[in-house]
Amino acid sequence: MNAPPMDDRDGVIWYNGKLTPWRDAKFHVLTHSLHYGNGVFEGERIYNGKVFKLTEHSRRLHKSANMLAYELPYSVEELDAATNLVVAMNKLESGYVRPVAWRGAEVIGVSAQGTKIHVAIAAFPWGAYYEQKAIKLVTSRWKRPSPESSPAGSKAAGLYIICTLAKDEALAAGAQDALMHDYKGRLSEATGANLFLAINGELHTPTTETILNGITRLTVMDLARKAGIKVVEREIWPDELAKATEVFLTGTAVEVQPVGAIDGREYPVGPITQKLKADYAALVRS
Ligand code: PMP
Repeated sequence: MNAPPMDDRDGVIWYNGKLTPWRDAKFHVLTHSLHYGNGVFEGERIYNGKVFKLTEHSRRLHKSANMLAYELPYSVEELDAATNLVVAMNKLESGYVRPVAWRGAEVIGVSAQGTKIHVAIAAFPWGAYYEQKAIKLVTSRWKRPSPESSPAGSKAAGLYIICTLAKDEALAAGAQDALMHDYKGRLSEATGANLFLAINGELHTPTTETILNGITRLTVMDLARKAGIKVVEREIWPDELAKATEVFLTGTAVEVQPVGAIDGREYPVGPITQKLKADYAALVRS
């Protein structure tokens, strides 16, 4: 059975401070962020009725907005409380939360001066991100932009135009996701998740220059160190995929996701991946 469309569901959405019936959470077609891509958002997972690392996500929503030169009209504490409320009102034991903030329809020009900031938080059931135990990636022709060309650390809607193109091209090619290089040709990230390679028993991951510094990435780096696995953040070039013995992705939605192949080169689901996947699963449910 197909899931119902996102705009036609029961439940409530927290919308500018009010619980609003799901189907009424709308905005005007001349909304500034729809035209210029300056919305910001978060993706959070609910485990046992609680959002994992909620305050970190609320803080990152603020940071994302600040990088796009606006302030959210709700504090981190208010966002946390609103999220907890919307999870409870929709009676979710597990699932996903999508907070989003955007500039309103007060003006139409490129300048955003005079726009009001709006915030909404939706929560809904959501299972595993991929069906496969180990996914196939293909390298995308789309490159993550330089930090001089984009606010890379912001979870800004506009940055996802590349991710959507890359992901849909990967799906059309029979893979489950795309691996993106950055503007210099170094390995960067997948379309909604960060990249890790096991090399000589150590964990290697790209620096934060052109990626979203994932909350899961930081959590998994911590779990690895606790398990006695050395973690190395550095620039990584595509030819190093040949010496990796394991590859996995991390993200709120994908959790710790083994990668079984990149551009046809195969990887086993090895001991480091298995250990960190189990440790992450135990942590989020604890
Ligand atoms: N990179 C991108 C492009 C993403 O969209 C995400 C998902 N938010 C991540 C990395 C992983 O971030 P997190 O672990 O905070 O979910």
